Amino acid sequence: MKDKKSIATRLNHSDYRPLEGFEAFPTAIHHASTVLFNNVAAMRSSRWQDKSAYTYGLHGTPTTFTLEARLAEIEDGKHCILAPSGLAAIAMVNFGLLKSGDDVLLPDNVYGPSREMGTWLAQDWGISARFYDPMAGAGIAELIQPNTKLVWAETPGSVSMEVPDIPAICRAAHDKGALVALDNTWSAGLAFNAFEHGADISLQALTKYQSGGSDVLMGAVITRDDAIHYRLSTAHGRLGFGVGPDDVYLVLRGLQSMKLRFDAHDAAARKIAAWLKTRPEIARVLHPAFDDCPGHDIWRRDFTGAGGLFSVLFDARDTEAQTDRFVDSLRLFKIGYSWGGSHSLCVPYRMSAMRNFWHGEGNLVRFNIGLEDPDDLMADIVQALARL
Ligand SMILES: *Cc1c(COP(=O)(O)O)cnc(C)c1O
Repeated sequence: MKDKKSIATRLNHSDYRPLEGFEAFPTAIHHASTVLFNNVAAMRSSRWQDKSAYTYGLHGTPTTFTLEARLAEIEDGKHCILAPSGLAAIAMVNFGLLKSGDDVLLPDNVYGPSREMGTWLAQDWGISARFYDPMAGAGIAELIQPNTKLVWAETPGSVSMEVPDIPAICRAAHDKGALVALDNTWSAGLAFNAFEHGADISLQALTKYQSGGSDVLMGAVITRDDAIHYRLSTAHGRLGFGVGPDDVYLVLRGLQSMKLRFDAHDAAARKIAAWLKTRPEIARVLHPAFDDCPGHDIWRRDFTGAGGLFSVLFDARDTEAQTDRFVDSLRLFKIGYSWGGSHSLCVPYRMSAMRNFWHGEGNLVRFNIGLEDPDDLMADIVQALARL
């Protein structure tokens, strides 16, 4: 055998190792599908589920483990698993915790695609999925059956903004042996502590505030309980829900400014919501920090902040064509789904088509208040209201 390897081999194998001891703030971006083992015994004994080893890029790298640990810390949780989107994280919870014959309860104001997944579970997977009035509170106990394994909650509902009584829902669910998964995206885990209020799982669409750039899709499930984490991570492994390290890096970067951004969104949104309350065109402002909003007292009891997302109900005499024209006339506010980014957004929703229990009157329009100057945003709303 010749001593010096040929160029094709040397292009792929090198003895060079960078110096030890490099210290800097950013987390390194580790790209890997294959993870190398020192020997066969190490390969056979390595376990990824308890994060004691790396086995394959899909199941974790130093980059993903770092973001997972930091998200668990933010919410006072113990474990966290990333998923390729918020919706994928919802799927991981459903497929990790439910099987055919089980029953799941979803709030009527649940995130739309989550509702769609519930309907699919019921149609094709032998799991019954039922919708409850998000303001049922302790009354949810009446709906919980022996086969009800999971209760979803969302606080507040991300379109209609009702703030449910999460501690009461959790007590009722736990009394009957069901777990509670809370979609905690609205508060970013900053303004509401899911675990202190009784939830078993806190779900985050990192796509929103954690990223903050309207440029990444990612989700996370955070837990305190080892057994629940094990079931969710098994589902993660079986579903193949890996995430790319460049996207993870962007979310890690977003965390540094998240609290400042969240507080700025919150202050601007409250300023604009308070002003909208004085406008004759607006019948109701659905913002948890205002007493028009169902569950406002619960928000005051349980939350420490609000972020940038709220809705309004227009005067019931305004037709859909009129409120659509209002949205179309906005210039700084763009029309688009999602929120938590620095740009203001606006979406009209057809509530009665989306909900089993909807009692609101007037057309609903949702605002995501970005990081622009609130006075400019209000001027934009004034000119669009004039076209109503
Ligand atoms: C956006 C959102 C999700 C889903 O997040 P994606 O990353 O867009 O899939 C889930 N729940 C809520 C409340 C959301 O707003």
